[in-house]
Amino acid sequence: MLTGKRVKIKAKGKIFEGIVMPSFTGNLVLKLDSGYNAGFCEYELIEVLEEVKTQIRGAEISKREDLPNVKIISTGGTIASRVDYRTGAVTSQFTAEEIISDVPEIAEICNVDAELLYNILSENMKPNNWIELARRVYEALKKYDGVIITHGTDTMHYSASAVAFMLSTPKPVVFVGAQRSSDRPSSDAAMNLLCSAKLSISDVGEVLVCMHGSTSDDFCYAHRGVKVRKMHTSRRDAFHSINAKPVARIDYPSLNVEWLSWRFKRGERDLKLFDKLEEKVVLIKFFPGLGSDLIEYFHSKGYRGFVIEGTGLGHVSTDWIETLKKICEDSIVVMTSQCLYGRICDRVYDTGRDLLKAGVIEGEDLLPETALIKLMFLIGNYGIEKAKKLVKINLVGEIESRSDY
Ligand code: GLU
Repeated sequence: MLTGKRVKIKAKGKIFEGIVMPSFTGNLVLKLDSGYNAGFCEYELIEVLEEVKTQIRGAEISKREDLPNVKIISTGGTIASRVDYRTGAVTSQFTAEEIISDVPEIAEICNVDAELLYNILSENMKPNNWIELARRVYEALKKYDGVIITHGTDTMHYSASAVAFMLSTPKPVVFVGAQRSSDRPSSDAAMNLLCSAKLSISDVGEVLVCMHGSTSDDFCYAHRGVKVRKMHTSRRDAFHSINAKPVARIDYPSLNVEWLSWRFKRGERDLKLFDKLEEKVVLIKFFPGLGSDLIEYFHSKGYRGFVIEGTGLGHVSTDWIETLKKICEDSIVVMTSQCLYGRICDRVYDTGRDLLKAGVIEGEDLLPETALIKLMFLIGNYGIEKAKKLVKINLVGEIESRSDY
């Protein structure tokens, strides 16, 4: 039984050294010193070098008094997945404890407790899941120095925004994911997790997303949860801060943190939870030819919060204006842009001015998804009229006062 031991092997004419990971396939899986896992079906064992004190699946995790305490809440996604060798599909199977046993270096940074909240792919997240997640993070923050949430990357920015609005946090709350599952040689899971562990014990007091900053294994970026977006289907550096600087750069493997844009420091805010979200809020992407009947349909179904992803500076076709005037009487309509980068300005062209007259609110430099979550949060907690006043006010770093980026 080699699991947990450090070995030297020869495969494909090369020498490899690493820690033997639990494997369900009969293949040898080695965690290399780079943090990556590599699988070998044909190899020659040269030497068993030493027994490594690694936290094997299910084993009790030993705590060190000199280290801060961090809670990992696992929700699923690729970071918690491995390839199902029967079907070839990537499925979610890992619990948070299993992730820790795959990345034993984390035990040098902090004491970790783990909680499996969900084991779902993030396209299956719903507003109720965000509420439950915010409640769990709130409880964890009473006891722990920081919280890490492992999450599927596809909708991580929605969840990060939801938690950022629902929770006033005095401590770091770090969302982390992976573009490649942890049993793949090119996995980004280990490095992302280690960088997020470093962030979770840092002096920041806000909700962040931590992912690869480049295609190499040299640094991660910490992005503000309300300013980040997945901009590539598969690259490991898919996450970008939009209309804002990243919050920090974490070098790997040194784990040195360079702060780029602070907002809230640790201890600056009191811990508070606002756990309501209005679900009848919709994000509609305008395209040439789309009629306003779609927005009327949602209104007839009781929706009172609308985010429009308009063209350019924030436009839809002029035949929407009369409908929007009616809708704005009892609803809130916020304009964002398909451009993503830049700021809404409906004072430049006639269409924009007519939209403003109809009651449409300029969404500043809000990402459309962040605007959606902000409306869910504002309507849920304060009602439509107050939401109309608060939507243009920066609450947690979702609106930058200047458009520098
Ligand atoms: N679609 C899945 C999700 O977002 C897998 C993608 C990922 O985690 O990167 O959960």
